[in-house]
Amino acid sequence: MPGFELFGDTERKELNDVLETGILMRYGFDAMRRGHWKARELEQEIEKTLPVKHAQLTSSGTASLNVALAVMGVGYGDEVIMPTFTFVASFEAVLLSGAVPVIVEIDDTLTLDPAAVEAAITPRTKVIMPVHMCGSMADLDPLLDICKRHNLLLLEDACQAYGASYKGKKLGTIGDAGAFSFDFVKTVTCGEGGAVVTNNDKYAVMADRYTDHGHDHVGNDRGAETHPNLGYNFRISELNAAVGLAQVRRTNEFIEIQKRNHAILHKALSTIPEISFRRLPDEEGDSCSFLNFFMPTARSADKAIREFEKNGIDSCWNYYENNWHYIRKWDHLKNMKSIYPLSDLVKKGLRNLNSASFPQSDDFISRNISCLIKLSWTEKEVMARAEKMVAAIKASL
Ligand SMILES: *Cc1c(COP(=O)(O)O)cnc(C)c1O
Repeated sequence: MPGFELFGDTERKELNDVLETGILMRYGFDAMRRGHWKARELEQEIEKTLPVKHAQLTSSGTASLNVALAVMGVGYGDEVIMPTFTFVASFEAVLLSGAVPVIVEIDDTLTLDPAAVEAAITPRTKVIMPVHMCGSMADLDPLLDICKRHNLLLLEDACQAYGASYKGKKLGTIGDAGAFSFDFVKTVTCGEGGAVVTNNDKYAVMADRYTDHGHDHVGNDRGAETHPNLGYNFRISELNAAVGLAQVRRTNEFIEIQKRNHAILHKALSTIPEISFRRLPDEEGDSCSFLNFFMPTARSADKAIREFEKNGIDSCWNYYENNWHYIRKWDHLKNMKSIYPLSDLVKKGLRNLNSASFPQSDDFISRNISCLIKLSWTEKEVMARAEKMVAAIKASL
């Protein structure tokens, strides 16, 4: 990760197909496009390879989450349960739908703690939204069980986890719907883009319309189409889809490289008894985009990050002080700094967030170190890095 590291001839070829016809839009202009339908082809590629019954491309991962919530019928006053550790886009998508993000503790998987989820359920809860952070899976079986017992829907925020799986099924295809991001820093990239996937036929029809102003996409005259539902514009362009088509076809290549590099680092760090690794509910299914481990204390984690910096080990983070990925620094959300009025129910739902504490999440996040696994490293570079990391960690204990 990220896929842009290996941008090359295949991406250029797909992109040139689009540039040569000049048809940058995914719908219409049938005669002029000379058979090139990159967005449609990318949707089919995702459907075939995950596999999943339906894939709907969108303009971003954030849009995908929002579209997924919309087709699930989530709106004003509904509650969506999500974790303290994610990217801000997860709660943005919920707010955009008019619903209330209900934020709960994570556990040693760095994803939703099932016990905290169950404790947060109210009569307004409609969706549980686990986030498969850093390319590894949430603890899905207990979450699916909770959904079943409480009659709730499961939406997987798989924005960071394209190509990862859980017990033989690809992440994103296990819940009622899943959302992917193909933004510039994700494992496979379109530049900007995303996808909603689902095995639910009704959701698929709604997503197809909702992402394109309500268009029914019947016939081949856009102007004459009807609009059975309200919709918005969350379309991807053909340019972005073309890059994504080449990148998605390289998913296995990327994941293999990540697994190889990850294994070298994991093996080296395993020799340090004081550290422990993030719990993975299915180790086989990890996309290995990151290596996540816990230092014994917050202080030693802090020290290790500084040792890494001193020794030129880049792309390793501790998220405790991070503005974007952990609840501690989300004061714009806690103080409801919306530039337009929020509904009373949203305001009521967010009211207690400022004084809420998340001791369990604080403990795991403050001790966690998250290291990006790059695609462009040579084996020699990874070996040297592993050696330097072990020394830096030992010096921080
Ligand atoms: C990247 C990301 C998103 C949003 O995707 P964009 O394409 O950048 O809008 C949502 N959730 C998570 C967990 C992400 O990492």
